[in-house]
Amino acid sequence: MKTQNCVCTSGKLFTQCCQPLLERTTLAKTPQQLMRSRFSAFALGGYGSYLIDTWLPSSAAGLDVAELSQRSLNWRRLEIVSKSQKGDQGIVEFKAFFLDQQGDERLHHEISLFRRHSGQWLYVSGDIAN
Ligand SMILES: [Zn+2]
Repeated sequence: MKTQNCVCTSGKLFTQCCQPLLERTTLAKTPQQLMRSRFSAFALGGYGSYLIDTWLPSSAAGLDVAELSQRSLNWRRLEIVSKSQKGDQGIVEFKAFFLDQQGDERLHHEISLFRRHSGQWLYVSGDIAN
């Protein structure tokens, strides 16, 4: 894993991209960084508690660490379409691609809202875009 490119397809090494966030040695500096790390958490599996902890608590009500730790979809790559930040609010539009059971590539296109709480970016909610 050490010399592998990050699963968020940033082109950076995992160790220099999402790993420090997932291992909690550093906090996301931007909504985009947090978004990427959450994609990696879903893609890798095993990071349910990271996902919960980076979710706005009121939005995460009813979510389950064990369930979120499961690698439920075969996520392949991530494209950031646009990003913006105003103070403690951020918006990231992204396209995340996964393979379905037939091996066909499928698209999850979302506009996500992020909010910074005590210096830490959190995922608030997302709208599916077309
Ligand atoms: Zn990454």
